Amino acid sequence: MRYQAREVDVDGRVRLVMESALTARDRVGVQDFVLLENYNSEAAFIENLRRRFRENLIYTYIGSVLVSVNPYKELEIYSKQQMERYRGVSFYEISPHIYALSDNTYRAMRTERKDQCILISGESGAGKTEASKKILLYYAVTCPTNNHMAALGDCLLQSNPVLESFGNAKTLRNDNSSRFGKYMDVQFDFRGAPVGGHILNYLLEKSRVVHQNHGERNFHIFYQLLDGGDDDLLITLELERNPQTYRYLVKGNCPRVSSISDKNNWKVVMKALSVIGFTTEEVQKLLNIIASVLHLGNTQFGEGEEGETYITTEAQIWTLAKLLGVDGSALGEALTHKKLTAKGEEMISPLNFEQAVSARDALAKAVYGRTFTWLVEKINHSLALKDEIYSSKDPSLIGLLDIYGFEVLQHNSFEQFCINYCNEKLQQLFIELTLRSEQEEYETEGIAWETVQYFDNKIICDLIEEKHKGIISILDEECLRPGETCDVSFLEKLEDTVGSHPHFVTHKLANGKTRRAMSREEFRLLHYAGEVNYNVNGFLDKNNDSLNRNLKEVMCQSDNQILSHCFRREEVIDQKRPEMAATQFKNSLLKLMEILMSKEPSYVRCIKPNEAKQPGKFDEVLVRHQVKYLGLMENLRVRRAGFAYRRRFEAFLQRYKPLCPETWPNWPGRLADGVSTLVNHLGYKAEEYKLGRSKIFIRFPKTLFTTEDALEAK
Ligand code: ADP
Ligand code: MG
Repeated sequence: MRYQAREVDVDGRVRLVMESALTARDRVGVQDFVLLENYNSEAAFIENLRRRFRENLIYTYIGSVLVSVNPYKELEIYSKQQMERYRGVSFYEISPHIYALSDNTYRAMRTERKDQCILISGESGAGKTEASKKILLYYAVTCPTNNHMAALGDCLLQSNPVLESFGNAKTLRNDNSSRFGKYMDVQFDFRGAPVGGHILNYLLEKSRVVHQNHGERNFHIFYQLLDGGDDDLLITLELERNPQTYRYLVKGNCPRVSSISDKNNWKVVMKALSVIGFTTEEVQKLLNIIASVLHLGNTQFGEGEEGETYITTEAQIWTLAKLLGVDGSALGEALTHKKLTAKGEEMISPLNFEQAVSARDALAKAVYGRTFTWLVEKINHSLALKDEIYSSKDPSLIGLLDIYGFEVLQHNSFEQFCINYCNEKLQQLFIELTLRSEQEEYETEGIAWETVQYFDNKIICDLIEEKHKGIISILDEECLRPGETCDVSFLEKLEDTVGSHPHFVTHKLANGKTRRAMSREEFRLLHYAGEVNYNVNGFLDKNNDSLNRNLKEVMCQSDNQILSHCFRREEVIDQKRPEMAATQFKNSLLKLMEILMSKEPSYVRCIKPNEAKQPGKFDEVLVRHQVKYLGLMENLRVRRAGFAYRRRFEAFLQRYKPLCPETWPNWPGRLADGVSTLVNHLGYKAEEYKLGRSKIFIRFPKTLFTTEDALEAK
């Protein structure tokens, strides 16, 4: 006897049952979680995911939310024929698919004339970027094309390899991990043809340029250049082929990745750059910058007898100066000295060894980060609406958000703080919009609203972002405060100001209440998705993100046009302190929220089935964490609060009319009366359903299943 399958009973207990005892529906689970008998049981939820995953059914709905489990293998479900299958077909008619969601969103934009957005979330490696690429491909293939805009689809698709080359890296969790957040608008004309696009990028992980953890790499482009660039190019850039030559590439001790061909990708990226419209000269300038970062990493310092710092790799400076298009001696001076203005007078003071190293690294990060931003601007330029005909009319938009999910690592720092703050904001938006759309549907259908209990995470967002009182404000203040400030003084300040907040804990304030021990350098936030400890080490530096003024001065005189665009003279002249990193991020997030609020949202929630990046492996503990972090149970509860299932009258009648002699083969009267006659005949009780203006709402899945079974038996 084989007890292969598991079944979850009404109390959420899992038991083993014989495979043969399962019906087909049991085996493949339900394709919409709202049809789960016991929608409060996390065990039942996960069991349903597992069953579907085993059958290679990686997609499942929670109402209109698409849950996707990374299969870690190529499935035969993305062909052109599949695209055709989903075109123009109602969401619930065929099996759940990313194409169904893409198509549905597109049609909603066309028919309701309202801008749409698709929000993709999930942890690193869960399949967000793949999902966004599949959506783009779906539009590129199935939407009508516009003759003189034919190249646009190409540009949209080709922007991916470029952004991935410069913004993605191999990490422990994903061989092709996006190290920046991305929001992309696709613009359609009045005939539904894609005619333009625009990308916003968020918080590139610049620290990766100068440091990688063990088993991780720097951004792909460095390895692609070294592996794929031809000999002449490398000679011009004065580069060696072996990545291990470069200090910025050796930290992770991982020059090669078996799943990645740097050489092939190099070709793909170079081709993509030319399709997008980069000139040969621009590409050359771009590569000069990439090479300069590697040379910068190999620039070393020594300490003189009087503690002064000098550059030991003199020759490197000249190469660097050539590649950056700046004056060599000025660069050398700026890497070892800093310029201060005190009482209106300029002073030059030497840097000590550590300061010189960190000035060098700051320059590398600034050069790379700003070049990345330039790259995005340049891509936007080529994606911009080209024809005045189109820009004169309001185009319809579909926005795609592919952004880092909630992150809890062994050590969480400033980056995780920002990422998790972003996820709090997205959760807030999600709740607001889901409740709003539920409420709107009830209203248009004329059904009384039933209140839903849910956790409002506004309190946590306030803790982080509130003006003057929130963590970000306090961090900024601490960065600006003259005198001795350090990460620990920041922590103390936090304790003084937000110490009593119910979602904030530190070692001092914990009073033995907390389960896990905390170090003296940490604060803990109780996020909606769980607790996270943040180590304050480096918070001030990362928030400051500043470049010595004399380095800026050198850079803004560069004759490399990309760099002179990135480092503006005004920045040096203008003594006003630029926004700090966290505040910048906060402001860009607030803008993003505004953009998203103005659109009709759809959601893709991605789940990673195992850490080994292997097919067929379903790690229950790992999945359970993600179900929690993604807020899926809460999502289901909100969606199920009133009714499990809703269907338009015509669709419902069409499907079930054979079950009632009066509706078969056709119901001649009003649709609502037909549905009413049908459900009376089927014996639905009053508490089981409600009829709205255009839809029937069914409270329990069981009712629907009984009806489905009757249909099957017929
Ligand atoms: P994320 O962007 O969420 O970090 P990715 O989209 O980069 O994750 O996915 C990580 C890897 O998982 C991909 O490189 C690919 O190998 C695999 N993968 C993700 N989604 C799919 C899918 N639908 N089909 C096949 N493989 C996938
Ligand atoms: Mg990604």
